[in-house]
Amino acid sequence: MTTSAFSSRISGFHKQGFQDRVETLASYIQLTDDEQVHLRNTGNLPAEMADRLIENAVGTMNIPIGIATNMRIDGVDRLIPMATEESSVVAAVCNAARQCYDHGGFITSMSGSSMIAQIQLTGVSNPAFARQQILERRDEVAALCNSTDPVLLKMGGGFQDLEVRLLDTPTGSMVIAHLIVDTRDAMGANAVNSMAEKLAPMIASWTEGKTNLRILSNLADRRLARARCIWRTQDIGGPEVRDAMVSAYHFANCDPYRAATHNKGIMNGISAVVLATGNDTRAVEAGAHAYAARKGHYGSLTHWEVNADGDLCGSIELPMAVGLVGGATKLHPTAKIALKILQVQTASDLARTIAAVGLAQNFSAMKALATTGIQKGHMALHAQNIAMMAGAVGDEIDRVARTLVAQAAVRLDVAEAELQKLRSA
Ligand code: NAD
Repeated sequence: MTTSAFSSRISGFHKQGFQDRVETLASYIQLTDDEQVHLRNTGNLPAEMADRLIENAVGTMNIPIGIATNMRIDGVDRLIPMATEESSVVAAVCNAARQCYDHGGFITSMSGSSMIAQIQLTGVSNPAFARQQILERRDEVAALCNSTDPVLLKMGGGFQDLEVRLLDTPTGSMVIAHLIVDTRDAMGANAVNSMAEKLAPMIASWTEGKTNLRILSNLADRRLARARCIWRTQDIGGPEVRDAMVSAYHFANCDPYRAATHNKGIMNGISAVVLATGNDTRAVEAGAHAYAARKGHYGSLTHWEVNADGDLCGSIELPMAVGLVGGATKLHPTAKIALKILQVQTASDLARTIAAVGLAQNFSAMKALATTGIQKGHMALHAQNIAMMAGAVGDEIDRVARTLVAQAAVRLDVAEAELQKLRSA
């Protein structure tokens, strides 16, 4: 495809409409007619909307949405839409939720709905003095923030607090102002970024410093979602399973190599709901991993203990900056339906539900790993993917997948051979 004459410079690409852009791309990259038709078929996200959501749009990426059943959260049953390309993720949540459903399901809470915007001040020769100069103007700061977003104020949110931190860095002392703003049912990045940008010149003038960055922190530790749940030992396979799961948790909490994978599993569930609802997966992921490392050691986002009755108690706590308004949540037609399926009334309902999904996911992953191993559950679905990769269509997919699982050889070369055998039979 690429030759030495190939150039990635496409003049005016961003000014073209979606359809013209596909044509231009096709001429650069020699896309076939079928490939162009494929890109132009944007499914249930209209091309015009894709073109408005991002720059240089030439297609959409469809990901399956599955529904997690059996979830009971704070006494309310909810169906959970999950957008993921990874097999076993939806099934894991259904299974974990089934095993605690009769015992009441999940209990959740939230620490608040405030976001933090940071303003970086450099070149301040007297940082301690400057810190106080900023803190003294709290009322002015509050008024400016609230005038920047009167809607937030009307919704019961807006400015909450002002903090100023001093940082010693290789390029000198820095004064870091934190605007703490309740963004209610919005994720709030744009809202707080606008406030920080508006306030920065004033802070600079009060302190004689120079403002540099003005942006939210994704370590949204004023917006922690929490979920907890008890799985009765008798419902999960007995004390041996329970103890193996607790041991798996201790491994994760003490070893960052294990914790990364343990938390990745949690995010399998969390990111799938965040994506389905049109929220920002990267914001939630950044917040989660930063929170997992907040003590200077990267550990587990969940905690697992055995209570006095001998049952397994799981809990999770992590930043959950998600909204019901703003970003793509109210624009993407699929996200709107996902929110309808969830029947959440507030961003807090959504955040707490997502935390419960993360805990459920972690339960299933740990249980599988500590008992049969993860591959058994994965393989049936994975075998179908391998069969499709080998070219199987229709009935062939199940037939080839079954032979792969039966041979315990879920491999592309085996799938190709099996498909050939099937077709020549
Ligand atoms: P937004 O600006 O699109 O909408 C939020 C606004 O909606 C509020 O400021 C408020 O004026 C209004 N609003 C109406 N009803 C409301 C209600 N009930 N509660 C609260 N506000 C209400 O979106 P946003 O939430 O400020 O920003 C989210 C977007 O910012 C996401 O798309 C995200 O990807 C993006 N973003 C993220 C980062 C980051 O995470 N680092 C950085 C920049 C942008």
